[in-house]
Amino acid sequence: MLEVHRTHRAKILNHSQVEEPLDRHGWSASKLWNAANYHSRDVWEETGEIPDHGDLKDELKTHPKYKGLHSQSSQRVLEELAEAFNSWYGKRKSDSRANPPGYRKRNYYHGNRVHEEHPRSTVTWKQNGIRHDIKNNRVRLSKGANHKEHPKAWEYILVEYETRPGVTVENLQQVRAVYDRANERWELHLVCKDEIETPTAPGTETAGIDLGICNFAAVTYSTEEADLYPGNRLKQDGYYFPKEISKCDDSGGETATRLHHKWSERRTHFFHSLAKHIVERCVENGAGRINVGKLAGVREDENGESKNWDRHGNLDLHGWAFDRFTSILTYKAKVEGIEVVEVSERDTSKTCCVCGREDDNQRVERGLYVCKECDAAFNADVNGAENIRLELNRSNSESSGQLSEDRSTGWLAQPGVYLH
Ligand SMILES: [Zn+2]
Repeated sequence: MLEVHRTHRAKILNHSQVEEPLDRHGWSASKLWNAANYHSRDVWEETGEIPDHGDLKDELKTHPKYKGLHSQSSQRVLEELAEAFNSWYGKRKSDSRANPPGYRKRNYYHGNRVHEEHPRSTVTWKQNGIRHDIKNNRVRLSKGANHKEHPKAWEYILVEYETRPGVTVENLQQVRAVYDRANERWELHLVCKDEIETPTAPGTETAGIDLGICNFAAVTYSTEEADLYPGNRLKQDGYYFPKEISKCDDSGGETATRLHHKWSERRTHFFHSLAKHIVERCVENGAGRINVGKLAGVREDENGESKNWDRHGNLDLHGWAFDRFTSILTYKAKVEGIEVVEVSERDTSKTCCVCGREDDNQRVERGLYVCKECDAAFNADVNGAENIRLELNRSNSESSGQLSEDRSTGWLAQPGVYLH
């Protein structure tokens, strides 16, 4: 059996009754975020290291703001902050415009005094903080200790919800209360665990993926099928959003936060639609396995020096994006019974996938790989993907026989191109 988590959006039916306590918890999440953020920046300035969520939990579990939420909900806030710092840490070396995660507050003027207001952050309840009444479509969400004002106050927020017709909410794992600013209402996201029959792989073929910048992904399915997915949209966003964010007076302010959010939403959408399409193509092509080129320069760097920067340019900026995409792909592929395997992409860009000749000085002209040995000329990213599909490095060390099979190459020059 394969475990799947599904998220259902639900409308809150007794909104006027629960709005006030949900507001308080949303504000508490922002305050805890800020306290932990302050601490993280402190540690960063003193030691040059970022505390992970375990460190944050040890440090903040006695902090008064920690008691604004159920303990598991507070832990989730700290996890999110640690993730945000990690992704900033990955970006900062190569992108001087990258900002560490901001504080969650906005200033506004009332008369001539500046007031600080906290936005309503998303609050997540995990299993210990949830009681689910399946029959009546209700959840009880545990309050933070700070919000149980007096001994007789309710220990929990009782929310009546409505999902779209036909949805069964069972095996509830997580409840997220999300504030919808446009409609000035809270809504619930209900995460349910489902188990499905372990799927059978669509076939025994292997696909190969090369991740890059101009083409975010080049994919080969066989010697007859290759697809390119240009990264135009990611690149355009990568220029547009930092520029707009830098125009904001306050880098942690509301407008900057909204832009960051929109940017990340667009990226996530791009990754999901790309992964979905690749998995569909794997099913069509009978692939039971996907080899993804592993970016050795980013993650396997023992002495602080970077390797394999040749073709991808600034890997550091994109390593985290590739990781994120690979994990989305792995999840979507698994549901179809397809395994995702990371293989070394060492030498895959300088080896001809047709004759196996390795050449440090091979020519790449207008994105074309041109082989001096066999005169093959085709898209450089497709060449990389095909070498990854064939697991170049393994076949080199075991035997070179795999590359000597007779292969037609006409298709390599004209892969299908999908614009997302
Ligand atoms: Zn060749």
